[in-house]
Amino acid sequence: MEEINGTSNKVLEVNLTREKVNIYDVTDQERRLFLGAKGLGLKLLFDRLKPGCDPLGPDNIIAFMPGILMGTGAPCSGRFEAIAKSPLTGIMGSSSCGGPFGMALKSAGWDGVLISGKAEKPVYLYIDKNGVEFRDASQYWGMGIPEVQEAIDDKKTGSLIIGPAGENLVRFANIASGHRFLGRGGLGAIMGSKNLKAVLALGGEYRIMPRDPEKFKKVKKRAHKYINSNKMTAVAYRKYGTNANVRPNLKGNILPVHNFQDGWHEKGDQLAGEIIADNHETRHHTCKPCTIRCGHKGTFDGEQMAVPEYETIGLMGSNLGIFDPVQVAKWNLICGRLGLDTISTGGTLAWVMEAAQKGLVESDLHFGSAEGISEALEDIAYMRGFGAEMALGSRSLSNKYGGQNFAIQIKGLEMAAYDPRGSFGHGLAYAVANRGACHLSSYLVAQELYFKLLRPDLTYGKARWVKFFEDLTCCINALQSCQFTLYAYLLESPLTKYTLDPVLALLMQYMPQVAILLVDSSIYNGLWNSVTGIPLSKNQFLRAGERIHVLERYMNTREGITGKDDVLPGRMLKEGRISDPSKKTVPLHKMLAQYYKIRGFDENGIPTEKLLKELEII
Ligand code: SF4
Repeated sequence: MEEINGTSNKVLEVNLTREKVNIYDVTDQERRLFLGAKGLGLKLLFDRLKPGCDPLGPDNIIAFMPGILMGTGAPCSGRFEAIAKSPLTGIMGSSSCGGPFGMALKSAGWDGVLISGKAEKPVYLYIDKNGVEFRDASQYWGMGIPEVQEAIDDKKTGSLIIGPAGENLVRFANIASGHRFLGRGGLGAIMGSKNLKAVLALGGEYRIMPRDPEKFKKVKKRAHKYINSNKMTAVAYRKYGTNANVRPNLKGNILPVHNFQDGWHEKGDQLAGEIIADNHETRHHTCKPCTIRCGHKGTFDGEQMAVPEYETIGLMGSNLGIFDPVQVAKWNLICGRLGLDTISTGGTLAWVMEAAQKGLVESDLHFGSAEGISEALEDIAYMRGFGAEMALGSRSLSNKYGGQNFAIQIKGLEMAAYDPRGSFGHGLAYAVANRGACHLSSYLVAQELYFKLLRPDLTYGKARWVKFFEDLTCCINALQSCQFTLYAYLLESPLTKYTLDPVLALLMQYMPQVAILLVDSSIYNGLWNSVTGIPLSKNQFLRAGERIHVLERYMNTREGITGKDDVLPGRMLKEGRISDPSKKTVPLHKMLAQYYKIRGFDENGIPTEKLLKELEII
């Protein structure tokens, strides 16, 4: 079998209108500055996308980019990223997925595919090492995701498929790859707008080899060791999946309950990963390859189903007042068939329930009742009746009917399942995240609640930590190493592991500049260097992460984003949680001003020309 040394540096550019394919050669400079996957994808879109283009028009481009580590056998590396202008938010959207498409594309010889234009009638793309075929998809249009997978997927291919929600342009439609999803930002609607039902890649043509196999072997060994000794990755997530978050989140009063009116509920524990594992014969069902193995399936009402991940449990469970995992697993399955992002679906349904309670809209949906939800999911996916309005998301609904205060979204993207009133740093991260209320841009809740290394109710130092984790996360998203490796790679490094927790916490809380310098992120760096053969020091690597983050921000500012958009939902700023006696709200403004300063943005949150030049973005 032929080999690819690290990356092929070849990206397919497909125009559906003209049925034309071009091969773009990634330059060394692009690779060094923007790394890979999300970073490189953003750079390629920056050069091609016209600001102001209609996200559902033919000019929008959707990029699918396998990670740098894909195919190397590095732990938790079977991931790829999709990037495009989001129809839900109107700004840059992206999503990462651990389904088989990424490996198929990369081992077919391609480091990415950019798709623009609009096909005249439904098509699907078939990609192999020779290029792209345009195939008729009329017979699949209207079908649910599993049926199409059954019809066109086989063991040799990896696929991307949309469901009816994507076809009908639901603004939070997702894209499936195997049993994993590109969930956020409505990227499925972009495929729908292009009459693109699916993309198949036939992999297995090339073996992916790191440029420096000896160095790679050493780093990989250390990575495995850290993952297998960290309590979060080797025990909690491996045994209970991400629902291991339920108990600490209940304790920290940040589990969303009744549209984030509260952060705790007496029945909340019924949704805990430990309880689900006990009652539903759970077993692994993961992205591949993966060393952590957080994904699970289980038996619910006698049927095999995926165990809903924490975000789904939070948004479609407790946030709707539902504490029965069987019910949430069934809705998760329906969303998977129709192609709906469960986070935005849950956030939107919760807004409807509260708006109905307050008399702003007419709906029979109400907190604590499962009645009508399955039908509402179908209505959303097929844009039927009020479902057509729900399909535009909670921002659109609240702009029309009022109730913006309790539309739990930022920049149009519904919030993930962590209430920032119990985790101030995470609140800042939500407010400034490039894709909207994203929990993964800078996952500070881990330091604030799970490891107690930062005080969740203090603002001091948080701006610096948010920036640091944003930059590092951009590096990780370029590698497409699963973000859960962060727990192990940072916390198991000797300096962190053998520093007493109180000392570490003091240093992190009160001397963040010093603590950040001491963070050992050398595994990520080492993986990059050994796979690509492009030597980057820790600082150069993090600087590339910063460049990627600022590029995305800059692209968003070209779409009209300014500091006025870096907000939290009114509820987080003005209302305390029901069960919180101190009625804490997030003191955002103080942290925001510090954040802009540290980032080198002006007071309106715009990256300065000086910064853009220093980072070689313009
Ligand atoms: S830890 Fe979970 S999300 Fe991450 S790669 Fe593994 S199975 Fe996928």
